Amino acid sequence: MLNSEDIKKMAKAMGADAVGIGNIERWEGAPTQMDPRQIMPEARSVIAMAFRVMRGSLRGIEEGTFFSNYSAMGYGGITYLYMPMTVINLSKMIEDDGFEAVPMGHQSDWRMIDNEGFGRLSSRPVAPGRAAPDVMIHLRIAAFLCGLGEIGYSKMLLTPQFGPRQRVGIIITDAELEPDPLYPDTDGPQLCNRCMACVKDCPGEAISPTDTIKVTLAGHEVEWADIDCKACSIAFRGGLETEEPLSENDQYMPSTFGKNVARSPWTPFVKKPRNLYNTGQAVCGARGCTRACMITLESRGVLENKFKDKFRRRKPWTVDWSSEPEYPEDLIMHGDGPVPDPKVKPVD
Ligand code: SF4
Ligand code: SF4
Repeated sequence: MLNSEDIKKMAKAMGADAVGIGNIERWEGAPTQMDPRQIMPEARSVIAMAFRVMRGSLRGIEEGTFFSNYSAMGYGGITYLYMPMTVINLSKMIEDDGFEAVPMGHQSDWRMIDNEGFGRLSSRPVAPGRAAPDVMIHLRIAAFLCGLGEIGYSKMLLTPQFGPRQRVGIIITDAELEPDPLYPDTDGPQLCNRCMACVKDCPGEAISPTDTIKVTLAGHEVEWADIDCKACSIAFRGGLETEEPLSENDQYMPSTFGKNVARSPWTPFVKKPRNLYNTGQAVCGARGCTRACMITLESRGVLENKFKDKFRRRKPWTVDWSSEPEYPEDLIMHGDGPVPDPKVKPVD
C-alpha cells in the first residue's frame, strides 16, 4: 500500500515543488460549502501540492516590458495545464492502489460561493444537509492544513520554499496517510512578519491595513487582512477606480461593478489584454501580494529558493498617462506612425 513518503516522491517526480498531507479531521468545523467531506464523505486525507511560479515569469513585469509570461506561464498555464496533469497522474497511482482519489486543480469557476463567500443562485442542494453544487475547497487553507506553509497578512499562501510564489492543487482521498505537522508547529522560520509591504504596494488598495479576518484552523488562530475583492479584480486587470465619470477615451474597461475605471499608473496597457489560457490577465503584476512580499521575504533570508542576484535591481516604474509615449525609434507602427496614447489601437 502506498504511504505518505511514496506519494510525496511521486508527486515531486511528476512536477510538484512541495507536497504536504493533512488528515481530514483538520477540516472539522469547515463551512459546508467548503468541506471536502461534502465531495467524498469517506475522505481520510487531503494531499496538497505547491507548483512554483518562476521568479523569471515576474521579471518582465518588474522591468515593465513583458507581462504575458506571468499570465501564461505563471498563472493560466500552471492552473489549467501543468497542475492538473500532475494531480491527475498522481491520482491514477492512488486509484491503482485501490483507493479513490479526487483530482482537483483549479476548477472554481463552477463554485456556488463568490470570492467573498456569498452564495450564488446557480444551483441547489440535491438533499437536505448537502452543499449546493459546486463545493469550493479553499486551496490556500487546504495548503495550510496540509502543512505547506502560512497564510500571510495578504491572505496569500506563503511557503518556506517560495514565499507567495506558487499555485496549489489538491487530491482528496479515502486512503489513510501519515499527516504532516502544520507549518507553525515546525521549526521553520516565521514567514509573515506583518511588514505591510503587500498593503503599501497593492495598486488596488485591496488589502486593508486595519481590518482583518480571523479564523480557527485545526486549533490555530489565523488572521489575514480583509481583502476588497472588487478592488483587486479591477486593479488585477490594470484598471484604477475613479470617482468622476470618465470620457470614452479615458475609460480603460467598460463599467466594472458599476465603477469608473481609468488606466492605472501601474500598468502600461492601453486596453485590458486578452485572457491567456482561459484566465489571468494579471497585469497588476501582483505588485503587492506577490512581488513586494517576495522581495521582503528574500531580503530577510527566510526563503529556501535562493538566487544569485536580488529581484529588484532598478527603480520601480510607473506610467504617466497624461504624457506622450516615447516608443522605440525602430518600432514600426500601423497607420501613420506613433499615435498618442490612449487612442493608439492595439495591433491584433
Ligand atoms: S508583504 Fe509582509 S505583511 Fe504582507 S504577507 Fe508578505 S510578509 Fe506578510
Ligand atoms: S492581485 Fe494585484 S490588486 Fe490584487 S491584491 Fe494582489 S497586488 Fe493587489
